[in-house]
Amino acid sequence: MIVKVEGFVANTTDCGESDKMLTLITRRYGKLSVYARGSRKLTSKFMTASLKFSYGDYVITKTEKSCILNEASTKMTFFGLQRDVESLALADYIAEVTADVIMPEEPEDQILELALNSIYLLSQQKKPPKTVKTAFETRLMSYLGLFPHLDCCQKCGKNEDGTYYLDIMDGTVTCSKCAEKSAAEAPVPQEEGRAYIVAVLSKEAKDFMKRTAECEKTKIFANPPDTILRQICAASEKYLVNQLEKNYKTLDFYKEIAD
Ligand SMILES: [Zn+2]
Repeated sequence: MIVKVEGFVANTTDCGESDKMLTLITRRYGKLSVYARGSRKLTSKFMTASLKFSYGDYVITKTEKSCILNEASTKMTFFGLQRDVESLALADYIAEVTADVIMPEEPEDQILELALNSIYLLSQQKKPPKTVKTAFETRLMSYLGLFPHLDCCQKCGKNEDGTYYLDIMDGTVTCSKCAEKSAAEAPVPQEEGRAYIVAVLSKEAKDFMKRTAECEKTKIFANPPDTILRQICAASEKYLVNQLEKNYKTLDFYKEIAD
């Protein structure tokens, strides 16, 4: 069967002398592995469309066993990522997570759009990388139905100013007063760097995360105040990685080079 799909190249693997296998995230079929014959040759008609992060129309011969690329036309490339190593590393992470959570034959348009918008903002340097990262992770959790319960303290039900501890295992928050009362039950981290099971959030940071998960699409990438950006960045990352039970190499690399 010959199909035409809109897709985003989330990853590429070299094979043969001049071929590539593309991990293509499509609107119609979810994730596809597409064989792009000869695409590593400089003269190939697939040269641009088979680059990582390209977005366009792909005409594919699709059988149960394989997908072979026949034609491709590029709608968007993100060459601007090459200007900034932190943005490029973050785009790699976003592409890896996107390819990981979208399954074959299960299209997820909202997640594909979120990834494309995130990478676009990075390539155009329209938003700081940390803002894009936290927005992507937070909204993705929401789309996957994994978003934590941030409305109020799970123990006393209050939502007052103060410090909250996000349990990254069960997705609940506990206020500092309740956490002190039950200190024997779960150790409260003294500093953020020590916490693995728990992420520390001020009420402002907690409420900002909740808004990012629930707001209109046009407001997803709002800049958090600097005072809470690092808290949200750490919390969304710890929570997402824990919920997906993954170690992303691209995230490790991003953290090495990001300040
Ligand atoms: Zn409480």
